[in-house]
Amino acid sequence: MAPSSEPSYPSGLVWFRRDLRANDHAALHRALTQCQQVHCVFVFDREILDALPQADRRVEFIHASLVELDETLRALSGQEQGGLIVLHAVSSDAIPALADTLGVQAVFANHDDEPRALERDSLVRTRLAAAGKAMHTFKDHTILERSEVLTQTGNPYSVFTPYKNAWLKKVDVFQLTSYPVERHTRRLACRPQEHCLPVPTLASMGFEATALAQLKLPTGASGAQQLFDDFLGRIERYDDTRNFPAVKGPSYLSVHLRFGTISPRLLARTAHTLMLKGNPGASTWLSELIWRDFYFQILHHHPHVVTQSFKPAYDAIQWESGAEADALFAAWCEGRTGYPLVDAAMAQINQTGYMHNRLRMVVASFLVKDLGIDWRWGETYFATHLNDFDLAANNGGWQWASSSGCDAQPYFRIFNPVSQSEKFDPEGKFIRRYLPQLAGLPTKALHAPWLARPLELQEAGVRLGNNYPLPVVDHDVARKRTLERYAVVKAATAG
Ligand code: FAD
Repeated sequence: MAPSSEPSYPSGLVWFRRDLRANDHAALHRALTQCQQVHCVFVFDREILDALPQADRRVEFIHASLVELDETLRALSGQEQGGLIVLHAVSSDAIPALADTLGVQAVFANHDDEPRALERDSLVRTRLAAAGKAMHTFKDHTILERSEVLTQTGNPYSVFTPYKNAWLKKVDVFQLTSYPVERHTRRLACRPQEHCLPVPTLASMGFEATALAQLKLPTGASGAQQLFDDFLGRIERYDDTRNFPAVKGPSYLSVHLRFGTISPRLLARTAHTLMLKGNPGASTWLSELIWRDFYFQILHHHPHVVTQSFKPAYDAIQWESGAEADALFAAWCEGRTGYPLVDAAMAQINQTGYMHNRLRMVVASFLVKDLGIDWRWGETYFATHLNDFDLAANNGGWQWASSSGCDAQPYFRIFNPVSQSEKFDPEGKFIRRYLPQLAGLPTKALHAPWLARPLELQEAGVRLGNNYPLPVVDHDVARKRTLERYAVVKAATAG
């Protein structure tokens, strides 16, 4: 039964978006407790899909995850005609139309706070209201959201450490508790005959299969659980391993957090419990989950970051432009900068759609502070290629690297791509994995091949400028130019 303060309905519709699981799901839980009958829908939104390339790993990831979600919902309903209604349409038209066809009184969904999603939801809400139907949305994607963590003066935090301290003070058992779904599943409805269809194929939506299967990236709620179980065996060492891209240190759960195939509450609760038991890795990992919440609340309170610098003074910076900048950007995108760690990292994102966090920081810094290119170019490239692309975290990461962000790297801190390589890939394992043409070089020479002795290059079969590029910029020269470029910020902030 629904608590007396909540409305109850004969039937409702749960609209899945970035929450592709049937357990610990706020909207599904609320619909099941407030409605006698519950339908479930996912829309492959043409407004998003039509702008994507024909082969996109994320569409395939979503597709595979939906096939599993459909089966899970059908099994939970205990009905052969149960399961997920999957449409390929424009959501803002399709949801009100489906609500009408099904005769539901309310639509339930979880918050999606990206600006375009908020606009879409507002349109859907208005259309539903015009038909006398309600739309209820809930926090699900983060542990603490929007204005739940504020300073004592009631303002949003813009520095991470005090935010994290306030987050840890505020978080309680309720926020970390799962929303039970299993005990109410008899209310899951049969799909009407015309919607008793399998998930549409990728081809029917105009997409080609990608190499996702070869990546061994497990999909769906079962894939997420598999990765999490694996990570729990090494979470204790996370603090020591997480910065080394050749080591299996992080959880690799970001794509699952992005599409909600795992509950953030389960992850935060587990990390929190382990932290209280003195597990150092769990404590650091929980901080990463708190960074995630932090950037979501930054986007909520400061939506201007989508197009502008968080700190306005940084919008005065003059970035490189023209043919030379275009050529340098292409070299960065294609992993042809001549700096092996940068190029190996770009090969990783291009081949797999994932990039290790340390490398995201290195390549972002290189683009902005070695090549002098606007961080928004890199942000867009990541948005197109990352499986886990999330506007809030991606924008936060890029603005951190370019120093324009809320709690960013100071502008005069410029990563040296060679020392980063020596420090975080000391044996060159990661570079050798992604740049096999350099594999034969002695490790010392691997980090900066242009400094290698001619004999070392010859023995390794490396022909600089031929099968591996010479550096596109000299780091020391680039560093000086960047300090000059950023002088405008110094002047503005000093004044
Ligand atoms: P783990 O180390 O296991 O961390 C666990 C989870 O914590 C991650 O899955 C992620 O959800 C969250 N997290 C970790 N670090 C951060 C962070 N700095 N900011 C916000 N959340 C974090 N993360 C994305 O999820 N999507 C993005 O589009 C994205 N773009 C980035 C761009 C740049 C330039 C930078 C520097 C970072 C970006 N990150 C992004 C953050 C981070 O690099 C990834 O979350 C992380 O590498 C994912 O790997 P993992 O799941 O193995 O992480």
